[in-house]
Amino acid sequence: MKFSTKAIHIGQEPDELTGAVTVPLYQTSTYAQEAIGKHKGWEYARTQNPTRSRWETCLAALEGGVDAAAFGSGSAAVDAILRTLNSGDHVVMAEDMYGGTYRLATKVFQRFGIEFSFVDMRDLQNVRNAMRDNTRMVYTETPTNPMMTITDLRGAAEIAHEHGAWLVVDNTFASPYFQRPLELGADIVVHSATKYLGGHSDLVHGIVCTNSAEIGQQLHFIQNAVGAVPGPLESWLCLRSVKTLEVRMQRHASNAQRIAEWLQNHPSVKAVHYPGLPSHPQHALAASQMSGFGGMISIELGSLEKAKAFTEATQLFTLAESLGGVESLVCHPVSMTHGSVPVEQRQRLGITDGLVRLSVGIEDADDLLADLTRAL
Ligand SMILES: *Cc1c(COP(=O)(O)O)cnc(C)c1O
Repeated sequence: MKFSTKAIHIGQEPDELTGAVTVPLYQTSTYAQEAIGKHKGWEYARTQNPTRSRWETCLAALEGGVDAAAFGSGSAAVDAILRTLNSGDHVVMAEDMYGGTYRLATKVFQRFGIEFSFVDMRDLQNVRNAMRDNTRMVYTETPTNPMMTITDLRGAAEIAHEHGAWLVVDNTFASPYFQRPLELGADIVVHSATKYLGGHSDLVHGIVCTNSAEIGQQLHFIQNAVGAVPGPLESWLCLRSVKTLEVRMQRHASNAQRIAEWLQNHPSVKAVHYPGLPSHPQHALAASQMSGFGGMISIELGSLEKAKAFTEATQLFTLAESLGGVESLVCHPVSMTHGSVPVEQRQRLGITDGLVRLSVGIEDADDLLADLTRAL
C-alpha cells in the first residue's frame, strides 16, 4: 500500500458498531466492565483510548514502524524518549536541536544525572569522537531549525549501532511523507504533531514511533506511568489531518521551492537556506535521504532593522511562532524561538539578527510571491 492510501485507511476501518467511516471520538475516561477482571481490553483512558490507538497505528504505518505512542505535545514526546534512560547514561545530541529539546536536556535531564554532549552533526566525525562507553542515544533533527542543516541518517545510525546506542530522529520538519528515518536505520522517530502532522495550527500534540516492539513497550509504559497523554480530540484531529498530509506536503514543497528560487535572485536577500536549492551545502545529502525538501526556508536580510521591517510588512505571512500549518507564517528566530541560545553559539550557527524564517503555507504561490515582493 502506498503512502496516501495508508494515511486514509490504516487504523481507520469503518466503526464496527455503526459503520461510521471516520474513527469515532471516544471522549470517555473509563470503560464499563462486565465482571471483576472481565472487560473488552479497555480499562482506563490514560492507559488506552481507542481514538488514540487508531492514530498511533496509522502513524506507525506512515513511518514504517511497528508501534507508536502519542503524547500531549511534541515536548512531552521528547521527554518520554529521554525517560527511557538511566542516571549515568550519555546522549550525543545535535547542537542545533529545537530550543525546547535543548532546554529539556540541559535544564531537566542533566539534573537527574543524564549526560549530554552537543555536537555539529553535519560532520559525523564529531559524533564518532563524542561516543563513550555509556552512550545510549545519538539524538538529531534534520533538517534543523532555522539553518536547515542536514544529518546523514544512514551514517549516524551506523555509528550509534556500533556502540550499542539508539539513533533518535526528530522528523518534525520533513514529515514521514518526505523522510522516513526508520527506513534509513533510526530506532526512534519523534514528531511535534503540532506542526505538519496536525497541519492546521489548531492543536498541540506529539508522537513517538519505533520499529522495535521492545522500545514500543517501554514508551507505552512511560505514557501510562507518567501520564502526559493527549486528549482524544487531538488524536482524532491528527487522524483527520494526515488524510491530506501527502497533498499538503506536495504543495508546501512546490510553493517553497518556487519561493526559494525567487528569493535567491532578489537583491535584498543576502542568503537563502533551503535544502531544495543546489546552492545548499548539503543539497546532495538531503536528496539522498529525503524525497522532497519541505516548506521551511530561512533568509538573511542583513540587519535587525531590515528583519523587523520585513516581518511587519508581510500580510499573508503572519508573524507568529510555530510552523507547518496551511497558512504561511514568518518568524524572527533571534527574538522569538532562539532567544535562549547563547550568543556565540547563535553566531557560529548563522542565527543572526537579520535572519528571518518562513513557514510556507499552501496558499497560491502567486499571492505569496506578491506578498514577499511588497515586503522586500
Ligand atoms: C515544535 C517542535 C517541538 C516541540 O513540540 P511542541 O508540540 O511545541 O511541544 C519539537 N521539535 C521540533 C523540531 C519542533 O519544531
